[in-house]
Amino acid sequence: MVSPFSGHWLLENIDPYEAHMYAYRQSLHSGRTKYQTVEIIDTYKYGKMLLLDGKPQSAAGDEYIYHESLVHPVMIAHPEPRNVLIIGGGEGATLREVLRHRTVEKVIMVDLDEEVVNLCYKHLPQWHQGSFSDPRTQLFFQDGRQFLLESEERFHVIIMDSTDFSEQSLALALFTREFFELARARLDRPGVLVVQAVELSSLEYAKHALLRRTIMAVFPKVSSYRTYVPSFRADWGFIAASEELDPGDLDEETIERRLKERVGAYGGQDLRFYDSQAHRFLFSLPKDLRGFLSQDGPILEDSGLPPLDLTQ
Ligand code: SAM
Repeated sequence: MVSPFSGHWLLENIDPYEAHMYAYRQSLHSGRTKYQTVEIIDTYKYGKMLLLDGKPQSAAGDEYIYHESLVHPVMIAHPEPRNVLIIGGGEGATLREVLRHRTVEKVIMVDLDEEVVNLCYKHLPQWHQGSFSDPRTQLFFQDGRQFLLESEERFHVIIMDSTDFSEQSLALALFTREFFELARARLDRPGVLVVQAVELSSLEYAKHALLRRTIMAVFPKVSSYRTYVPSFRADWGFIAASEELDPGDLDEETIERRLKERVGAYGGQDLRFYDSQAHRFLFSLPKDLRGFLSQDGPILEDSGLPPLDLTQ
């Protein structure tokens, strides 16, 4: 017997050797869109949780940690982010965090799956807080790479908040060297990109390291950072990349000044996680991890995933 609790359980297979179980009160939605399976459950520990193809995307109790960490380091590193692109970001919380910045004049969000966005709009209002109907928002339902290929627009900040990459992933083509070359060409100068960069716990580094090497093949300035997300039971990684900006180099005074000048409440809620101390914490990586990340290895290209044991 795994647990004395005898109600509903949802099992997430993390890899062939590990799984995570969430006890939940009720299922709010369970179905399949044109692209992926979608579940929204009300968990006992983390509140509502969105899962796509069986993988948790975010949970009510701690989504602010993930979304604030994804968005603010790069937005604060830019001297004046006015034009922003989000690829993925179905829940609308990444959009919410971008819209806190008073410098922002326009945010384009491109998510492949209109049905997922509509389900999030209906069931997860705490995430979007009205961000989908903000006058600065433009929503497109399209593959993110296709959008960039067809658009001539340039962006001060590009935020990649898609699902993870794997052989069968809808998002695999958003993680290759060729994709990052296209994204670099669509960045204004100065410009900065950030990618949600999979789990980065000390013994689960291979996938993040592969992505980091791929991005380093394209951008001269690349910083990995991470934070612990309780509902994932893992440290989550992010990668910032730019020709000229390095969020890892920002000093506390600049962060606090820019936060005060430019960032406000959204949907009545102030920032809960991010400030200059949190910034320093995000970019402080331990010695073993820095060692892993400095190793050479293959990169991701359009020709496919390199042969690599991603369970390391
Ligand atoms: N926080 C998340 C995580 O931990 O993986 C990501 C959140 S968000 C729900 C992921 C979104 O990426 C989904 O809404 C999905 O439809 C979208 N997506 C996947 N592949 C995509 C693609 N090729 N182009 C645009 N959006 C994509």
